[in-house]
Amino acid sequence: MTPAAANPFGERRYNAWNEHVKTRYGGRVQKVSVIAGFTCPNRDGLVGTGGCSFCNNASFTPSYLSRRQPIAEQIDAGLEFLQRRYTGTQRYIAYFQSYSNTYGEFERLRSCYEEALAHHQISGLAIGTRPDCLPDEVLDYLAALARDHIIELEIGVESCNDAVLARVNRGHDFASSVDAIQRAAARGLEVTAHLLLGLPGESHASMLDGARQLSTLPIRALKLHQLQLVRGTALAREWQRNADAVPLLSEQGCIDLLADFIERLSPDILLQRVGSEVPPSLKLAPFWNLRLSELAPRISAELASRGSWQGLHCRDTLR
Ligand code: SF4
Repeated sequence: MTPAAANPFGERRYNAWNEHVKTRYGGRVQKVSVIAGFTCPNRDGLVGTGGCSFCNNASFTPSYLSRRQPIAEQIDAGLEFLQRRYTGTQRYIAYFQSYSNTYGEFERLRSCYEEALAHHQISGLAIGTRPDCLPDEVLDYLAALARDHIIELEIGVESCNDAVLARVNRGHDFASSVDAIQRAAARGLEVTAHLLLGLPGESHASMLDGARQLSTLPIRALKLHQLQLVRGTALAREWQRNADAVPLLSEQGCIDLLADFIERLSPDILLQRVGSEVPPSLKLAPFWNLRLSELAPRISAELASRGSWQGLHCRDTLR
């Protein structure tokens, strides 16, 4: 697809993941979180020990989960929780989200994935990981699984700027993300890239350049998260010592940035998320008046007020 002369995305004005999923699968596909007990090479010493300075896995791990439970029981607990809240779900996929879920002995990875896939209500897997934890053996295996299952590979890119990645102790560079995305896509895997907007050291211009760089890569979808400071993280402690060293996006600043970013992003890339919400008990800052559910409509309204849409200013779609 090339940028169209008129908005091709309807009222949303961007290429929304949920619409794509409904069309492709005939209804909602809901992720059921599971914890497999993996760790992360940026915590266990292989790459680093402190972890990424923004990371506290508790902020995105459902409170009803326990890593001591077998995966099948975790899925049962998740399904019970989700089925009380959501209707219209067509399929469920197991979501390996916390830590780096391709980091471990291959046989252990395979056993965890296959335990989840053996559950009668599970149609596939979403697997979150770092780009430096994706050896060819794992990608080949996931590509084979993808012939019969929904497989979403979520790669934490976080920033396209090497100085920013170093500043937050990420332990890999952007070239590592490019390499992992290209090797996964070459095997036919659908890659979702995960990006954090507003990391310290990032500028408005550098983040828009990130939209340009990501548009040149074979990614299927993108999850955008705004930086929130989570209790217990190195970045939160740094902000408490010196708030000027960790500037945070304002509500309107974030909406303006997201609109600018989306205008420069390839229209082929599906937007799976445009923001996130850390549980209030874990969040230190920023606090906005805007709820997460209001963010997407505000972005659409901003794009509408500009008469623009996703990809209008994208010049680098190479796929
Ligand atoms: S964000 Fe991911 S890679 Fe970074 S410390 Fe947390 S689990 Fe590890």
